[in-house]
Amino acid sequence: MRKIHKAAGAVAIGLALASPIQTLAAEPANVVASIKPIHSLVAGVMEGVGEPHLIVRGSGSPHAHSLRPSDAVALQDADVVFWVGPELETFLEGVIDALAADARSVTLMDVVATAPDHHDGHGTHHAETEPGGEPVDAAYDEDHGHDHDHDHAHGDVDPHIWLDPVLAEAMVGVIAETLVAVDPAHAETYQRNRAKLIIALDALTEELAAQLAPVTDQPFMVFHDAYAHLADRFDLTVAGVVTVSPERPPGAARVQAVRDDLANGTVVCLFDEPQFDPRLVETLTEGTRIRRGTLDPLGADLDGGPDLYQALMRRNAIALIACLQE
Ligand SMILES: [Zn+2]
Repeated sequence: MRKIHKAAGAVAIGLALASPIQTLAAEPANVVASIKPIHSLVAGVMEGVGEPHLIVRGSGSPHAHSLRPSDAVALQDADVVFWVGPELETFLEGVIDALAADARSVTLMDVVATAPDHHDGHGTHHAETEPGGEPVDAAYDEDHGHDHDHDHAHGDVDPHIWLDPVLAEAMVGVIAETLVAVDPAHAETYQRNRAKLIIALDALTEELAAQLAPVTDQPFMVFHDAYAHLADRFDLTVAGVVTVSPERPPGAARVQAVRDDLANGTVVCLFDEPQFDPRLVETLTEGTRIRRGTLDPLGADLDGGPDLYQALMRRNAIALIACLQE
């Protein structure tokens, strides 16, 4: 156990003072992360120092989650809590105020507004990997190749921000800065891990752009409205969503509208998600030639830790290609 309660930590330091100097390692910060992809990025920055506590495990949905007692304990001990924001982990808003009032609460959703350039990121080599597909709309090209103040702050921004690896890079920057401020004793490691992660995420962005290039003009439908950033980054064509609010199943009128959309023949593939009941998607595709795939925005069955993020992104890219390519 790396995580030691504050009182126990003080005792440990007291004992360490009387022992040889090499045992006097500074206690890492107590860090909590909300969902697996965020936890993975935080774990990457903390590698070699400590491990963050993860709240939403397994196949749970962050849109509707109930806290376990161990989460409450972790939040009470937390120095920092990393989460996307109330737009995603709605359940956490009151919980952080109640249990982790003294902790630094970092809403990573803010990177969408503050990232130097939402689309081109930190000078990623976007021009070299520009997929050959048709631009989704006319505004698309204007958004590329020059600095601009991309305005997403209009109220309904897709909170699934980690599905754009360039935004993930921006998050890694915020995570590292926060940890350096809270736990300066390990600043060097945090900075080194950050630099390593940025290089890896740059490479991942290029790799996925090249892989996805052949399917950018293949329209597909998704289960819930989680893929705006992914589609934006890689020029994918999302033709529609089955349900806007993932907590409630769509009503009969919505189901009929989706069936009509699917019947007009343009949609190549409909993706379900492990967080939601697949029977609805089965019903929707019954008697059609629409292909079916699964996209997992959270990494439900992947092992948590530094490697999860890249594994998750690669798996979703493979799922897209498998379902969309001719
Ligand atoms: Zn979602």
